[in-house]
Amino acid sequence: MSTAGQVRKKKLHHESVYSVIKCKAAVAWGRGEPLSIEDVEVAPPKAHEVRVKIVATGVCHTDWEYLYETGKGMKFRPFPLVLGHEGAGIVESVGPGVTKFSPGDKVIPLFLPQCGECDRCRSPKTNHCRKNWDNTQMGVLADGTSRISCKNQQIYQFLGVSSFSQYTVVPDTSLTKIRSDAPLEKVCLLGCGVSTGYGAAVNTGKVEKDSLCAVFGLGAVGLAAVMGCRVAGAKRIIGVDINPDKFDKAKVLGATECVNPRDHNKPIQEVIVAMTHGGVDYALECVGSPDIMSAALESTADAWGTCIIAGWTETAAMKVMVEKILMGRTLKGTYFGGWKSVQDVPKLVDDYMNNRLELDEFITHSLPLDQINVAFDLLKSGKSIRTVISL
Ligand code: NAD
Ligand code: ZN
Ligand code: ZN
Repeated sequence: MSTAGQVRKKKLHHESVYSVIKCKAAVAWGRGEPLSIEDVEVAPPKAHEVRVKIVATGVCHTDWEYLYETGKGMKFRPFPLVLGHEGAGIVESVGPGVTKFSPGDKVIPLFLPQCGECDRCRSPKTNHCRKNWDNTQMGVLADGTSRISCKNQQIYQFLGVSSFSQYTVVPDTSLTKIRSDAPLEKVCLLGCGVSTGYGAAVNTGKVEKDSLCAVFGLGAVGLAAVMGCRVAGAKRIIGVDINPDKFDKAKVLGATECVNPRDHNKPIQEVIVAMTHGGVDYALECVGSPDIMSAALESTADAWGTCIIAGWTETAAMKVMVEKILMGRTLKGTYFGGWKSVQDVPKLVDDYMNNRLELDEFITHSLPLDQINVAFDLLKSGKSIRTVISL
């Protein structure tokens, strides 16, 4: 290339990296208010940041919970913000110091980073990398500001991600590159719900072959937990939900039987203990209710049962009868299914591409961005498992 050509290419690259992008995003102006589709401005990526064109995003219960339950089940975080943390897209530009990503790469943004350097990342015992943690929990990036603005106002980025925007900027440790043939409108589900439930069973619970399992709550997280129990070779997988419309899907994904607590006049834990002659080996809570967490724990076998909590609540406490633990039960929680996000999500994408992991069954609806409030309605009314929003 001629020198003039090189200069032009450099300039073009420079311009594309450093210009503000105007695009559409679903903005949450305040707690309890429906999302509003707005023209937003997305600033260029700063050092160690990547600007991503989001192609598709799932709508997770946690997005709904943050919008409608802040101050109840969820701790307060600032508004206005752009929600969404289950997205997939394509790198548009990279900031200074970014070495692992280039424009055009297919990527999944991660609400849980993996910096690879902190003590958490170096330990095999946990996936809880704390890189930029305090900032992203408060909706800002490393420098304390967000890259999204609207009407000259800073818009916070939910968990540092904000996939309900056509473009977003994330830290380079909160992003993973995936294979170029992966369908983004499917693998976006690996950004949260499916990875969480699946990992809750195979990583956190370490569900064993021929074991007895019960999964409480058959949304995307619970159904993925069912799938994890099946892949682990569980003998019985009991799906529990108050919405019997979820049972068919649960059976497709591996549940051997399903129970509706409302069909019984005794507590669900007693029903499960009776069904299994002493309790299950593994119980997975995928609802987010302290009462169901206690019920899940009490439905496990006294000497060795393990209860894994995936359902989310930030302000409530669960009741644990001390005796239930004294007898030998284990109570565990899971965050993002125990996966080390940057290294493991591309492997989960491979598993999907090699038909070892199901995603299509989870997608019950597809909608454009301007219908995003409908996706919340579908989730809350129990009509959807996952709606994938195309941006
Ligand atoms: P969802 O709303 O799709 O599914 C919840 C299911 O629970 C529904 O099928 C509902 O009918 C069922 N349910 C409600 N009350 C019940 C009861 N009393 N008994 C039995 N079932 C009941 O939600 P989701 O997207 O699958 O998320 C599930 C939970 O996981 C949420 O609390 C979410 O915030 C949490 N979550 C946690 C993590 C993590 O890292 N730990 C990640 C993602 C989501
Ligand atoms: Zn989620
Ligand atoms: Zn780390």
